Amino acid sequence: MPDKRVRVRFAPSPTGPLHMGGVRTALYNYLFAKKNGGDFILRVEDTDQTRYVPGAEAYVREALEWCGIVPDEGPDYGGDKGPYRQSERKDMYRAYADRLIEAGKAYYAFDTPEELDAMRERLKKAGSSSPQYNAVTRESMRNSLTLSKDETDALMADDAPYVIRFKMPRNEEVRVHDVVRGWVTVHTRQLDDKVLFKSDGMPTYHLANIVDDHTMEISHVIRGEEWLPSAPLHVLLYEAIGWEAPVFAHLPLLLRPDGNGKLSKRDGDRLGFPVFPLNWKDPATGEQSNGYRERGYFPEAFVNMLALLGWNPGTPQEIFSLEGLVEAFTLQRVGKAGAKFDPDKAKWFNQQYLRSKPDQELAAAVAPFAEAAGHRASPEFLAGVCRLMKERASFISELIEDGIYFFRAPEAYDEKTVRKKWKEGTAERMRKLAARFEEDGEYSAESLEKIFKAFLESEELGMGMVLPNLRLLITGKGMGPGMFDIMALLGKEECARRMAVGIEKLEDAAN
Ligand code: GLU
Repeated sequence: MPDKRVRVRFAPSPTGPLHMGGVRTALYNYLFAKKNGGDFILRVEDTDQTRYVPGAEAYVREALEWCGIVPDEGPDYGGDKGPYRQSERKDMYRAYADRLIEAGKAYYAFDTPEELDAMRERLKKAGSSSPQYNAVTRESMRNSLTLSKDETDALMADDAPYVIRFKMPRNEEVRVHDVVRGWVTVHTRQLDDKVLFKSDGMPTYHLANIVDDHTMEISHVIRGEEWLPSAPLHVLLYEAIGWEAPVFAHLPLLLRPDGNGKLSKRDGDRLGFPVFPLNWKDPATGEQSNGYRERGYFPEAFVNMLALLGWNPGTPQEIFSLEGLVEAFTLQRVGKAGAKFDPDKAKWFNQQYLRSKPDQELAAAVAPFAEAAGHRASPEFLAGVCRLMKERASFISELIEDGIYFFRAPEAYDEKTVRKKWKEGTAERMRKLAARFEEDGEYSAESLEKIFKAFLESEELGMGMVLPNLRLLITGKGMGPGMFDIMALLGKEECARRMAVGIEKLEDAAN
């Protein structure tokens, strides 16, 4: 028999902004699909109307597209296994719940919230730590297993509220095979009679999830570790309906930088890094959350960083394009242990991508920042700034912030450098040097350097006595990119002016 076509899905619930852990789940699904010539499907799990947040679904789509993780099928992406929103599939779930009831694998339960509370109280008093509706307790509750057929029919005819529950087998071992974890065994004693269908006419996550995975022909379920406890129930549900279960792979958690617990929004706020791909404003509270995009991350860097949080290529290589990741990815190399998020490493990735970008591309990206800061500059000049600054910056915005002197003459001079380097006689010396530069008709980095070296030689001066002061006059800073490159970019007139103004301002600073 030929192997089944690989079809995977990312199935977020639109209850808020997508956490970076969610983006990683989507990414691994995408990589696995593309690696195997399969399909990546976006399915919106919106059966829980009480937790629905407007804008959350659009946020997911925008975040995935920003990352380049574009679904082959999904709401607004097309596909012949739709609709891809569970709320639009509502009518198809009931039939499967009925099928389970007919087969004796599920039942109607009529218990009121008060009756359920009373049951839990009773069990707690009897010493149970996790009171639940299960193979034992169901026998003392009001359901179609304890009531007679007539009683059940009468309640149904009366429109009494009910839910449909799964009849968890009493004494069985459930074995789930997970690609990441190997065999996981759970005893049904630990599992409860989960609600499959709710009194509001909607399926629960569990029923909708397996019905959709089956009808959408999902071959591999790749999802976060927090769903591992649900996997045994899902395996039993597949069995009960008579379907073959998909292959499971549960991904390790993303941990806080110190390794203590799951990475949460609060950690991000506290330690100053985003945990969301894009900015998000909560429509109910107005609360803002920061995103990687707005913080100045390149999507390639964000994706590259995420890919390595829980997966490794088995080689020391760290820089991967999305295509490179597709090529290298296997589920076998996904680790079991939680992956510690490292904000410095995230920055490092961005820096690597920044450095590798062509100057023209960076110039186009930096232009809005320059404009916002009120700087007027040609694309050629901006490209020059990027060429000189990119080795020293992690973010696009820093190209402008740290290179402010490309756009305006210094207003202040780095105090430490002045204290250490601006001596008696420096002003005079710098005037002489300025005059030499004035004679340079070419004003290129090479010609300027030649003049500078000749000056040092004729004056019998060391580099360290002159170069820092030249930098002070031109940039106001103690450090920066190649001095003669900066001067060549700024041009003769601007440099001459800066030198003259600076020498005058620092004239009396000698110590
Ligand atoms: N709707 C679930 C979530 O929000 C999906 C779980 C799954 O992938 O099965 O994470």
